Amino acid sequence: MSATFGSAHAQITTPTPTPDEYVAHVGGEAELVPPGQFKLDGRRQLCGQRPTVMDHKLDDYGAAYPGFLIMNPKLLDRVSTPVKQWIYAHECGHQFRGPDEETADCFAVQRGRRQGWLTPEGLEEVCNFISPAKGDSMHFSGSHRCEYMRKCYADPTVK
Ligand SMILES: [Zn+2]
Repeated sequence: MSATFGSAHAQITTPTPTPDEYVAHVGGEAELVPPGQFKLDGRRQLCGQRPTVMDHKLDDYGAAYPGFLIMNPKLLDRVSTPVKQWIYAHECGHQFRGPDEETADCFAVQRGRRQGWLTPEGLEEVCNFISPAKGDSMHFSGSHRCEYMRKCYADPTVK
């Protein structure tokens, strides 16, 4: 079994690390934030009972390991609040729905709509963020994903 959900951000191979092991492996600035205490632009982010590791050296904006999320605050600083929250919710989607990127995208936009932090304008910011021309991340690029997210956002039934 692979330690990560997406091949684009494999850093530690099997066995799957605990959050503490991950922090110890990364060292330096990595920090473990307990469930319910992680904030983005002052807004509390929740993903069930999953803790968040803040890792300034992660090679992507965010990543999901089984049982915890990893966020790169340095990269997240470059994007708007709804995009930040979408990234967190996307990684949370991997926690609950598995490795498929489109499924995680759909989870994120529907959660954002339900919780009120993702407006149609915010969704366009997300689309702009993942457009191939602007994307500097393997994990978060692709215009076809945007089409699917728009459909999910408009779909009243939660996937
Ligand atoms: Zn993903």
